[in-house]
Amino acid sequence: MTKLQPVRGTRDLLDLRLLHYKAIQSIADETATLYGYAPIETPIFEYTSVFTKPLGETSDIVGKEMYTFNDRGGESITLRPEGTAPVVRAIMSEGLTQTLPQRRILQGPMFRYERPQKGRYRQFYQISIECVGITTYHADVEVISMAHDFLSRIGVKNSVLHLNTLGDMESRLNYRTALIAYFEQHKEKLSEDSRIRLEKNPLRILDSKDPDDKALCVKAPKLNAYLNTSSSEFFEKICLALKALGIKYHIDENLVRGMDYYCHTVFEFKSADLGAQDTLLGGGRYDGLMEQMGGPSMPAVGWACGLDRLALLKTDLKITIPTPIACIIPFSEEQEKEAMILAQHLRTANISSEILTQSNIGKRLKAAVKKGALYAVIIGEDEVKTGKYTVKDLKAKEDSFEKELLLDIESLISHVQN
Ligand code: AMP
Repeated sequence: MTKLQPVRGTRDLLDLRLLHYKAIQSIADETATLYGYAPIETPIFEYTSVFTKPLGETSDIVGKEMYTFNDRGGESITLRPEGTAPVVRAIMSEGLTQTLPQRRILQGPMFRYERPQKGRYRQFYQISIECVGITTYHADVEVISMAHDFLSRIGVKNSVLHLNTLGDMESRLNYRTALIAYFEQHKEKLSEDSRIRLEKNPLRILDSKDPDDKALCVKAPKLNAYLNTSSSEFFEKICLALKALGIKYHIDENLVRGMDYYCHTVFEFKSADLGAQDTLLGGGRYDGLMEQMGGPSMPAVGWACGLDRLALLKTDLKITIPTPIACIIPFSEEQEKEAMILAQHLRTANISSEILTQSNIGKRLKAAVKKGALYAVIIGEDEVKTGKYTVKDLKAKEDSFEKELLLDIESLISHVQN
C-alpha cells in the first residue's frame, strides 16, 4: 500500500501558507539586493565530508540529525542540514576566492532528523546570508543590520537580538581550560551528553537544553573574563556600531551556538511569540571554516533564518490567493474549442482565464462567483456565429447597464483592461 501522508516532519505546502513563504522569500531577496548580496543555489545533497568536519563531530547535527546514505556508487552523501558549509564549498569550487568579498544569499530546504514539533520540522526552509572575505567588524555589523532590516520589512514584532562573542582562538582556549576545571568539579550532576561534551567540546555544554546542565551553566565561568584585548576591542566596535544604528541588543553570555565553526561574534534573533522553538534567526563569524575545509584562511560571517518559524508569526504581509479574471463558460461541447481559443487570446493579453465545463450553466456561473472571477464569458451557438460573447460582470451591481454586455474579442480585452 502506498502511504499517502508525507513523511513525519515533512509537509506539503500550498495555498496561503505557500504564498506566505514565497512573499517572505521575495522580501529576503529584495533586502539582500539592497545590501549587495547576490543569489547562489547549491545542490540539496553534498558529499558527507562537507559537513562532518566543519560542523564538528560533537555537534547535534553531525552526531544525530543528518540524513546520510551511500548512493548507488557507494559515495557517502548527506542531504544538506545547513547552508554555510555548502556555500563555502561552492565559493572554493567555483574559484570565487579570486573575487572577494563574496556576498551571497541562499534560499531552500534543509534536512535534519529532529523530533518534530511546532516550528521544528525534518525538512525546513532557510534563508541564509554569507559574507566571505572581510576581516573587519564592518561585515558583522552589516549582516546583523541586514537581519534586523529584513525582519522589520516583514513586520516581525517582538524579536530580540541576543549577542555574544566567543573571542579568537587564544581566548577560546583559555576559556576552555577554565570551563573544564569548573565542570569537572560538578561532573556527577552533568547530563550524559554533556559528560561527553566535557571530553570533546566543553563550550557546547553551554548550549545544552538539559535542565540540570542549564542550572550548572548559570554559575559557570563567563567567556568575557577570558577575552584577550583584540577580541574585546573587536566586540566593542560591533556593539558601538549597533548602538549608532539604533539596533537594540541583549548581551547573552551563554550564547555559543551549535556549530563548531563559530568564532568572535555570535547572535540570534528570538521571538517570545514562538513558544519552545523561539530562535528565528542565528549566525556568527566563522573565520576558520574555509581553511578547515582545505582552502585558504578566510574571514567570514553570516546567518540563517528559519522560514517556517517566520511564517508562524503575525506579520504585516497581506497574502491573497490569486483569482481568475475571466471564467469562460461554453454552452455545450460544440463551443469548447471556441472557449479554448478565446482563453488563449485572453492569456496572451495577460488576462487570467479558466474554462468551466462541468455541470449546468447556472452552477458554473455560481462556481465563477465562488472563485472570485471578475467576469463570466458565455459562449453559445449565437456567440460563435456572431463572434460576440456574452460577458457578465460578476462584480457589477444588479441594475447596472454594464452587468451584461455583448462584446467581440478586441472589445472584451479592452473592456477588461480598462
Ligand atoms: P541553525 O542552522 O541551527 O543555526 O538554525 C538557523 C535557523 O533555522 C533557526 O533559527 C531556525 O529558525 C531554523 N531552524 C533550524 N532547525 C530547524 C528545524 N528543524 N525546523 C524549522 N526551522 C529550523
